Formats: sequence, C-alpha cells, structure tokens
Amino acid sequence: MDHERIDAALREASDTRRVVIGAGALDAVESTFAQCFENAPVVVIADENTFAVAGQAIHERLRAAGRALEPAIVFPRTPTLYADFEHVLALEERLRTFDAIPLVVGSGTLNDITKLAAHRAGRQYMCVGTAASMDGYTAFGAAITKDGFKQTMACPAPRALLADLDVLAGAPSQMNATGYGDLLGKVTAGADWILADALEIEPIDPRAWPLVQDSLRDWTARPDLLHDGARQTIAHLFEGLIMAGVAMQISASSRPASGSEHRFSHLWEMQALGHGHPAIPHGFKVGIGSIAAAALYERLLTRDMRALDLDALCRAWPSRAEVERRVRQGHDIPQLAENAVAESLDKYITPKQLRARLTLIQARWPTIRAKLEAQLMPADQLRELLTSAGCPTDPAEIGITIAQLRESYWLARTIRSRYTMLDLVNETGLLDACVAELFAPGGYWARY
Ligand SMILES: [Zn+2]
Repeated sequence: MDHERIDAALREASDTRRVVIGAGALDAVESTFAQCFENAPVVVIADENTFAVAGQAIHERLRAAGRALEPAIVFPRTPTLYADFEHVLALEERLRTFDAIPLVVGSGTLNDITKLAAHRAGRQYMCVGTAASMDGYTAFGAAITKDGFKQTMACPAPRALLADLDVLAGAPSQMNATGYGDLLGKVTAGADWILADALEIEPIDPRAWPLVQDSLRDWTARPDLLHDGARQTIAHLFEGLIMAGVAMQISASSRPASGSEHRFSHLWEMQALGHGHPAIPHGFKVGIGSIAAAALYERLLTRDMRALDLDALCRAWPSRAEVERRVRQGHDIPQLAENAVAESLDKYITPKQLRARLTLIQARWPTIRAKLEAQLMPADQLRELLTSAGCPTDPAEIGITIAQLRESYWLARTIRSRYTMLDLVNETGLLDACVAELFAPGGYWARY
C-alpha cells in the first residue's frame, strides 16, 4: 500500500481529504472522523451483514470515545438492498431529522445510497469500506436506479474513507473478485482514452492518467492470491480501486476508469433490468466486457488504415435521422432506446467531419497503434487473469447468449456519447468485418 501516493493524489482531489487503509485500521475510526468532522455527531449506516462485520464495533468505538451518536440505521438482510432512488429518498428524510454526519459501513450499494442521500440532505459523509468490490468508493457520483433505469447521479465522494485489511480479507471472495474485474477493465479503458486523445476528441488528463495506469500491471498481477485472503494482494487491489476513484474525482469524469468494456457492462445491466433478469455483479460484467473489447482491438490492429476508401465511407455515412431510426430500432427497452438516441446524436458527426477524422486516423495510425499495443493485453491473457481471480469469462455465466454478445458489439456504442474504439470501428467501416471474424469458426468467440 503506497500511502504517500494516495495522499499526493488526494491533494488534487476536490472531495476526499483522508484515506486510511491498513490492518487494524478500524482502531483509527474515531481519529479519522475527528480530523474531518471535529466534534460533529455521527450516525452509523450499515446493513445486517456489515453491521455485524464492522458497523457495531465502529458504533461502540465512537461511543467509547465520547462522541455523540444517533441510533445506527441498519438495513435488513432481506429483501436484498438495491441502490434505487426510493431508498435514497427514505434515507435523506431520515437524515433531515438530525444533524449527525453519516458514516456508512459497506460497499457499492450502501455507499451509493448514502452518498446521494447525504448530498441531498446537505451533509458530507464518511465511508468505511467492507470489500474491495468496485472503484466507486472515492468516485464522484452515485449509480442509482430511478424509474427502472440505472443512472449516475451527481454527488460528491466521501470526505473520508477508511478500510481495514482484516475486514476486506474476510469479505466474500466473490466481492473481491468483482473488484478485480472492475480494476482489470482499466486496461481497455486506457486504450480507449489513448484513441480519444490521439484523435483530439478528449485529451488525456495528465493528473488522472498515471494514478490509474502507472501501477495497473502490479495491482492486477496475482489474482490467484485473492482467494487465500492474502493481505498484500487485497491491499494492491483496493489501492488500485481507490486510485481509480480519485482519478475520476480529479477529472470530474469517469473517463479515467471507464471505456468500451463499461459500455458492454452498462448495456447488459440495463437490458437485465428492463427484462427483469437477475442482477450480475458489476465487475463480472466489466471483466467479460474487457475480453470482448480486447478481442475486437486484436481484430482492429490487424487492419491497414491506409486501405480505407474515404469517399465510399463518407457516401455511406448515415444522416442524423437515419442514426436515430437505427438506434431506436436496435433497443427493445423504450427508455434505453430514448437514452441511446440522445447519446448517439450527441456524438454525431457530419460526413465532412467524418472525412477529417478518417484523415487524422490514417495520418496518426502508426503512432496510435504503437501506443495501443503497449497499453493492451491480449484477450486470452485477460481471460486467464479473470479466471484466476474467480471471475466468470464465459458470457453464458452472466446470462449473455452468443447472439446477444454479437449484437452488443454495435449496441454498446450507442448508449453513451463517450468516444471509444467502438466508434472508431464504426467510422472506419470495419465493425461488421471485425465482428464477423470474432464469431466465425476459429474466431475468438467460436469456442463458446
Ligand atoms: Zn466500474
């Protein structure tokens, strides 16, 4: 755990002031809270599981230290808690009945609910993480489902984050595996940012990039050790997830941590939500999304961009109305379709702009390609690492059929205006041929 690096990153961050991670870190809960909130009263928020694991001990420690406490808010074990807007409103209402600072003990769902509810109640908050399960702890914004639709709602990251390695190591192994999938996804996310930067669409933020990318290979090197609850490996994983969150905080954008692999994941998440299918852990979808993206990158990197027929590509380029029609037709969930139409039109370029972009791609491809090759890992290597971490790698394991996966290669592009390799294969007219190769006998997905 590189505390100096984390502290240096936090000096650039807007919301989070303190991050404390270590074995026995629960002992520092009162001092950390005091550094950020002085004498303010506190309310511990947890669910039955996290209250038993750490919440109760935290509550007792704060009480023993003489701090004013509201009774803890503990969500029941059943029904399963989802990060939906109703829970946010209910918690907000509760928080408005007193002045205490929320201290949430939990991971993704509990943190997202508390993050947004605290913000709506005009309160900063503190988080005690209980699993290395995702990169949202230190990220700006909360992923909340409203009206059957998952969206990222703007709200600040916690003022302080504390995580005890003994607690993280004791988390269900599936939770730390899903965090590993989320972290490994930064490989393709970085490749997509390299593309957007080189094509002058979205410059790389020099403050955020190194936080995520400089140690990514080290953080993800030994997934096999995650199972044994190895403190060092879990510390690495958690450090990576925290740094990714801080990078998003610094950039005020999820770009440093999210590219085409997250487009696949979000598409599948919204499809499952729309069709009433069970929810799959975030990092499991991101992991398979990373394999899907890396496999497409492999096909793309075999192409010679000088061979592109710019005249033909510009002639065949769809109008705004045609894009709208195709995108709306492609999605079978009305709200998802509407959202995808808006996102797709937001990044629409004219045939003239397309010609300029293709010219730039041709001119810069040798440089771009070299950078992509340095950044990426082969799809097979990602698959081995994910398998070793205990993550699924067969789309069927997360409820995605091969036909759905194939369709996702074009649908994933439509749900977000952010530029990724999925846009590049579309603009260069290479999407259909590359995807056909992936699913042909002997192609990457032929084994499934
Ligand atoms: Zn993620």
